Formats: sequence, C-alpha cells, structure tokens
Amino acid sequence: MLNNKIQDALNGQINAELWSAYLYLAMGMHFEAEGLSGVANWFKIQFQEEQAHATIFMNYINQRGGRVELKAIDAVPTSWASPLDAFKATLEHEKKVTSLINNLYALAEAEHDYATRDRLAWFVSEQVEEEDNCRQLIDKFTLIGNDGMGLYMLDQELGGRTYTAPSILAE
Ligand code: MG
Repeated sequence: MLNNKIQDALNGQINAELWSAYLYLAMGMHFEAEGLSGVANWFKIQFQEEQAHATIFMNYINQRGGRVELKAIDAVPTSWASPLDAFKATLEHEKKVTSLINNLYALAEAEHDYATRDRLAWFVSEQVEEEDNCRQLIDKFTLIGNDGMGLYMLDQELGGRTYTAPSILAE
C-alpha cells in the first residue's frame, strides 16, 4: 500500500505531467497556425509523451492499491514569439519538472518506499533526455537565427519526429 504522503505527491505529479501535456499541445496548435507544421509535430509528440508520463504514474498508483485523484489543470499560455522562444520556455519548464521528480525521489527515500523510488528512477533518466533534447534544439534555432531557409529545413527535420510509447507502459 502507498502511504498518504506518497499518494498525494504522486497525484500532484500526475497533474504536473498533464499540465506539461497541455502546454505542449498549446505550442503545437500555435505553430500549426503559424505554418510551421514540423515544429507543431514536435510539440504534438511531446504532448503524447507527457500523457504517457501521467499514465505511468496512474498505472503505478493503481498497481500499489492506491487511488488516482485527477485535479483541475491550470490554463497554459497561448502564443510564443518564435520556435526559439518556445523551446527556451520548454527547457525552463522541464527544469522545474526535474526538480519535482528529484523532490519525489527524496520523499520516497525518506518514507522508505523503495518501490516508488525505483519507479521514479526511470523519470530521473527521462528528465536528462528531455533537457538535453531541448538544449540541442535551442542551439539549432539560435544557429539559424533569422535565416528563412534554415528555418524551413529545421521545420522539415522536426516534422520527421515520430512517437514511440515508453516500454515501461507495456510492462
Ligand atoms: Mg514529463
């Protein structure tokens, strides 16, 4: 059984993951409207990834005999000045998520809940990847600056991103 402190914290994290999903969906819709369908594709896949993160936590709570509590999802911003601006906002947001995961990990250790700690270890590695992906894209968008051809090509590249469900969901 999950103790209440851990269950509440995991339910809070589900809300944070769903807020992330909502944020990236908003970015996808914004860039779709701006005619950057590749950038939009990247964010729409990010939206799916965040839903998968929430699902991993929901499955885990149920597996441990706990109760999932879905809370209200706060509104998200609706526009960004450029893809660079959106990827910078994404990196800042993911850094916050990383600290939430780290706090959860510390809580699981303090509560001697090693099963939860082990599940969180997957998210610790996932956050390294999320931040690294963002940094690489910030570098690319910074490099092309206002070059239209560069933007066109990078948009094409991001249009090639496909969604792969985390293998942890198939367990
Ligand atoms: Mg996430």
